[in-house]
Amino acid sequence: MASSVQPDPWAALDALWGRGAAKPVEATVAATAFYGRCSTEDNQDPQTSRGWQLDNARRFIEPRGGRIVAEYFDIGESRSVPWHRRPAAAQLLLDLKDRGRGWGAVVVGEGTRCWFGNQFSLTAPRLAAYGVDLWVPELGGRFDARNPSHAMLMSLLGGMSESERRHVQLRVRAAMDAQVRNEGRHQGGRAPYGYVVVDGGPHPHPRKAAEGRRLRVLQLDPDAAAVVARIFAEYLESRTDREIATALSSDGIPCPSARCPAQNRHRRGDGWQASTVRAILENPRYTGYAVFGRWTKHDVLLDPDDVAAGHVVRFRRADPCDVARSEQPAHPGIVSVADFTQVQLLRRAKARGGSMIERTARRTVHQYRLQGLIRCALCGRKMESCFRGARVYYRCLARTLPTGARPDHPTSVYLREDAVLQRVDPWVATNQLAGLPGAGRREDTAGTADVYRALGLALRFDTNSATLTAVITSPPAGRKVLATETRRTWTKVP
Ligand SMILES: [Zn+2]
Repeated sequence: MASSVQPDPWAALDALWGRGAAKPVEATVAATAFYGRCSTEDNQDPQTSRGWQLDNARRFIEPRGGRIVAEYFDIGESRSVPWHRRPAAAQLLLDLKDRGRGWGAVVVGEGTRCWFGNQFSLTAPRLAAYGVDLWVPELGGRFDARNPSHAMLMSLLGGMSESERRHVQLRVRAAMDAQVRNEGRHQGGRAPYGYVVVDGGPHPHPRKAAEGRRLRVLQLDPDAAAVVARIFAEYLESRTDREIATALSSDGIPCPSARCPAQNRHRRGDGWQASTVRAILENPRYTGYAVFGRWTKHDVLLDPDDVAAGHVVRFRRADPCDVARSEQPAHPGIVSVADFTQVQLLRRAKARGGSMIERTARRTVHQYRLQGLIRCALCGRKMESCFRGARVYYRCLARTLPTGARPDHPTSVYLREDAVLQRVDPWVATNQLAGLPGAGRREDTAGTADVYRALGLALRFDTNSATLTAVITSPPAGRKVLATETRRTWTKVP
């Protein structure tokens, strides 16, 4: 027919503008990066979890011509942690900027596993900005930002992820509580000082027994158990935590961390501290009853002024009425329930009396922004925060050292917090880590203790030379330190 050979006057312009060619409803997928995540809260081992997530993703995009060419998988990262603080996800976001990354789309195996709360609304626009498509199985296709039902569904998924996580946590906790109450089963973890974990026969659950899992029970470690008994006895003779600690040190009794260095790697063999004695005196497991849930996990905002920075997990002492206790003794006791109760009553009375000797009596009213971040260069221990006059100080006291351990240590080392912040805040600001929340902002919000911790900041104060050294030890993965400087020393620090 004549019309079919007649040239279309618009043809050249249409070709130039790309008009006329109807866009396919479902675009085909090109080279794709897979993202997945798993952690202990999902109750699945990483291998299995990665396996099915990858399978899901493949089944989803391969029929559309997609091919997975890169893999980003976070292990051990809670879903409440935002993308820029999960190492693999942060790497993925970083690679977006790399033209040679070799992929043009991202696929996940399950959306609820990857995005929590409002995280999706913070991630998707970044991918879109780099022209990277996002394939989500729950959407049945590619995420389309212009499609209001997609946006709604993704925010629903984020909410579902949040509630699912809470349910899993409650279920696990309830199961553990029931096991402790009914069977007095040891719930894993380190044995308290005075005990060792031993084999307790095959696991009572048939499937777990078939997998070769065995029960673990607590047994007395006679030497250490005698020390625990001594601590309780001395406390009942109205000695203080510190007096008991000093007496143990001067008797040459190895402290828990020295006795079992492999188990207590995070503590130094500094000798007996009042806090060690306190922890023993307040541990109800010495009665022989199994106890679970003395500490609970909480999600707290990393930076209250920056909700998008997400949460960090913190342990908090549980309300005593929420702690699960076995109905029958579960392991050999070291102290009677009556004596243990008597000790708790005495401690409570002392705390009420306002005695500053027991740590329970102290109340933290001030925010210590460098809590746990400064070490004393002379003895290597963390400096403790305190409040004097109207100022926050960090101090290291010789009297809490084991007797005669460091004769050269001054009686007390004091360091003013404002003197440190004056130097560290601007340094962190200029040494800003890309995308790190809090860093580089105004001084009043820059660097709360958690922000500094996330940055891997460590400080060391040498009182003899009045020098303060700051080191950024482990910048979060996937983030670049903009300045080359990760260490700085100041002299003449008051
Ligand atoms: Zn010191």
